[in-house]
Amino acid sequence: MRGQSQLVLSPYLPVSLVDISVVIPIYNEEANIGALHQRLRHVLETMPRPVSYELIFVNDGSRDQSLALLLTLADRDEHVRYIDLSRNFGHQIAVTAGLDAAKGNAVVIIDADLQDPPELIHDLHAKLLTGYEVVYAKRRSRQGESAAKKFTARLFYRILASITSISIPVDTGDFRIISRKVVEGLKMMPEQNKFLRGQISWIGYRQTYVEYDRAERAGGETGYTYRKMIRLALDGITGFSDAPLKAATLSGFAVSGVAFLVMMYTLYSRFVSHDYEPGWASLMVSILFLGGVQLIAVGIIGEYIARLSANVRQRPLYLVADTNITPPAAPGS
Ligand code: UDP
Ligand code: MG
Repeated sequence: MRGQSQLVLSPYLPVSLVDISVVIPIYNEEANIGALHQRLRHVLETMPRPVSYELIFVNDGSRDQSLALLLTLADRDEHVRYIDLSRNFGHQIAVTAGLDAAKGNAVVIIDADLQDPPELIHDLHAKLLTGYEVVYAKRRSRQGESAAKKFTARLFYRILASITSISIPVDTGDFRIISRKVVEGLKMMPEQNKFLRGQISWIGYRQTYVEYDRAERAGGETGYTYRKMIRLALDGITGFSDAPLKAATLSGFAVSGVAFLVMMYTLYSRFVSHDYEPGWASLMVSILFLGGVQLIAVGIIGEYIARLSANVRQRPLYLVADTNITPPAAPGS
């Protein structure tokens, strides 16, 4: 089973044909694509030691002129690859599609809105070459984002860190460089609810970071609605922690415990102190006891369902509408 899904997930040979692949998810980024391409090009042409590279733009169902811009870029610049997904699959899946297609010895994941400065790629790559498999970019500060966004982000990273068993670095996005080894590792993790930061931490090897100041979005507006952010947060938590399920089970036991005490009291008032309303005792006992037992049962079933649901849906992660990458991304890749 494992071998089979691996085959389906990586139609590309794990051979490195270029030094660096840059994967850029694109969702309504027409305002940024031009500047982004220029800065990326400049950065990669001026690496301390010359490298071969490819720029993989993954169009995640944009509703603006992004795709048209990408097609023009691909015509003009031989380094530009594009993958046009069949619809909007979300940031994490768009990045995954890019990783599946990347042929680089090292792969950079970067946002399209220039919040992640391409110039940092020099530092990221240099650090990678000193013997790491992952170098992530850690935000020293973030500009131009609402207080609410900063606060929820901080809160989320702290909660996640406290309830997961693996250590997911706080205050990092997906901006990072990863080695071929890690890319192949990611391809072996076919889960539907992608949370790349968590998966990359799970993979292990030697990981480190460089710090940077996060800039404002250059143009356009965020594609991350609160709805998408909450989904990402839930994927992160459920993918890497069973704490909520354990809480359900524990609450079941706690309620049952209290119910038992109240039950004792009701029996006492019925038979010993005779201070009761007729019918009240049996009613209380059964409601409290059943409530507790039901919560325990739901908690336990939840433990199983969480493990099952993650594995039963063997849907492809994404579908490709068009690409200039050979071999073409097979459907369901
Ligand atoms: N993005 C995407 N699909 C989506 C939403 C966003 O591919 O459904 C891309 C977007 O084009 C950008 C990156 O993911 O390159 C980060 O998105 P955004 O800047 O909107 O997120 P934020 O920085 O506000 O968290
Ligand atoms: Mg952004």
